[in-house]
Amino acid sequence: MKTVLITGAAGFLGSHLCDRFIKEGYKVIGMDNLITGSLKNIEHLFSLENFEFYQHDVTKFVHVSDDLDYILHFASPASPIDYLKIPIQTLKVGAMGTHNLLGLAKAKNARILVASTSEVYGDPQVHPQKEEYWGHVNPVGPRGVYDEAKRYMEAITMAYHTFHSVETRIIRIFNTYGPRMRLNDGRVLPAFIGQALRGEDLTVFGDGSQTRSFCYVDDLVEGIYRLLLSDYASPVNIGNPNEITIGDFAEEIIQLTGTDQQVIYKPLPTDDPTQRQPDISKAQEILDWEPKVDRSEGLKLTYEYFLTLSKEELHKKDHNNFDGYIKR
Ligand code: UDP
Repeated sequence: MKTVLITGAAGFLGSHLCDRFIKEGYKVIGMDNLITGSLKNIEHLFSLENFEFYQHDVTKFVHVSDDLDYILHFASPASPIDYLKIPIQTLKVGAMGTHNLLGLAKAKNARILVASTSEVYGDPQVHPQKEEYWGHVNPVGPRGVYDEAKRYMEAITMAYHTFHSVETRIIRIFNTYGPRMRLNDGRVLPAFIGQALRGEDLTVFGDGSQTRSFCYVDDLVEGIYRLLLSDYASPVNIGNPNEITIGDFAEEIIQLTGTDQQVIYKPLPTDDPTQRQPDISKAQEILDWEPKVDRSEGLKLTYEYFLTLSKEELHKKDHNNFDGYIKR
């Protein structure tokens, strides 16, 4: 049985990865410090013999006694609201956390895949974004803590690859959605669905003309799985190229939920990218991968998940564990 360590295991993507690797017959060791993750996302795995969980902050030395075949580094706050609240932890997990896990990969002779992001392209001046594009990032803006940490992550990962011959994989993840997204993490999809379910107006930032391209989580997980098993060490975009304006997206959520509420407009956050769409030709060519779930189907599945949340959860302002991390 092969063994995989998944950091950020209690988060949205990490928990779906745990499910996938369990399904593939791996022993899965999950790790999370639970700042933004929730045990609820993985509690269904606790009774399994081939699943273990450690509550640990990967910015501190990471010890695992098992032999490891693979490491998937998915620990990081990942929404603009989160990294505004915990900027230092965001920087540390991308930088020191990645360093620790690369060291672990080297010591265990394991292959490591790190979760990078379309944010390395910043507010892109090239459209759609190809892996060869170097980006347009403001290092000292509010998103700088995330964008630069992920850029550093890519740099140190390549350095371990070339200097220490560690087997590394880098995925650049574009906007992804699905069940287990945190309702109040500030991202646009849970924000809109939460507002619709609470009977509030939908808040579109700016004039709603900015675009995003949303990928359903199962498609993303398939892309990650294929990239991990490939022999390709340079970054690969994984995302769904189907691009939509945020204004139109709000209309889709209004249709989906049948809410009577309307769209209201709020100021556009600083450095909010105006356009984002992945060029996925590399993933198509190297991994024979492309997304299969279209947005109407994916949104339906995601909405069904949000409908299972209790009234209490729906009205909680924030259900993450920031205590002790935010300056009040
Ligand atoms: N957005 C919005 N209303 C919200 C939350 C987000 O209009 O309540 C916009 C946000 O300004 C951005 C887009 O939706 O243009 C996607 O935001 P998200 O935070 O989901 O991810 P990003 O791609 O910006 O990291």
